[in-house]
Amino acid sequence: MDFDPRTYEPAPDLLSDRVILVTGAGSGIGRAAALAYAAYGATLILSGRVVSKLESAHDEILAQGDAQPSIAPLNLARAEANDYFALRDQVQAQYGRLDGLLHNAGILGIRTPLEQYDMNTWAEVMHVNVTAALALTQVLMPQLNASGDASVVFTSSGVGRVGRAYWGAYAVSKFATEGLMQVLADETSSAGRIRVNCVNPGSTRTAMRADAYPAEDPLTLPEPASIMAAYLYLMGPDSRGVTGQSLDAQIKK
Ligand code: NDP
Repeated sequence: MDFDPRTYEPAPDLLSDRVILVTGAGSGIGRAAALAYAAYGATLILSGRVVSKLESAHDEILAQGDAQPSIAPLNLARAEANDYFALRDQVQAQYGRLDGLLHNAGILGIRTPLEQYDMNTWAEVMHVNVTAALALTQVLMPQLNASGDASVVFTSSGVGRVGRAYWGAYAVSKFATEGLMQVLADETSSAGRIRVNCVNPGSTRTAMRADAYPAEDPLTLPEPASIMAAYLYLMGPDSRGVTGQSLDAQIKK
């Protein structure tokens, strides 16, 4: 694999005829990914917690002149089996297949030593960031298999590769995300119908980053729209045969 986000040039029709579901599509990196995927020809299923944000992303995609997306509200902290089944049924009824799944939704939890970490917060962070992503992947596997060239992308973090003090459940959940990606990639590699990888976005100008670093000047950080190369590469056919990898969306000079 010779992917470099600084030089990658996706074809304008990279994602034409592909149906892609993005979680956390209403804001931040997920919204930028949804807009980018739509701009490269995909039909989007916009999932997230806050419906008004999904509607706004929906309208922005239409204003770009791209394919009509659909909205699939799902609160990953509260969703039960029936909610996942309803989403699966919506995908089946509308499209009959799914070509891409970007697990982008995530929560930060609290920044505190493990000795004092609130266990309810721990459980919620692990659930939203890891368990819910697996639950969603599980129910969508039949549609992904029907694609024949499907891509599942999980969202990692630098603190999911090297542990860092006070990052608590968030860091541990991102280690777990890397593990989940690797196990699923190994399980699906011989059939070759679904590739499974991670993106570590790197420091990016979003609400979560501002929450984690309140004293930082956000203008020193790249906007989500400027880090999309890895997201496009992994979602489209240029990454055929690439599975079990964890890419960096930003490479420091
Ligand atoms: P934001 O806080 O801006 O976005 C988080 C997204 O997750 C929102 O769209 C939000 O949806 C969604 N979300 C949160 N909780 C739930 C829930 N219970 N159910 C459904 N959706 C939910 O953060 P970023 O854009 O920065 O983060 C995107 C991903 O990138 C995360 O996985 C994060 O860990 C990762 N990341 C970000 C970095 C950065 O510097 N920004 C660095 C490394 C990793 P809604 O708005 O509808 O609530």
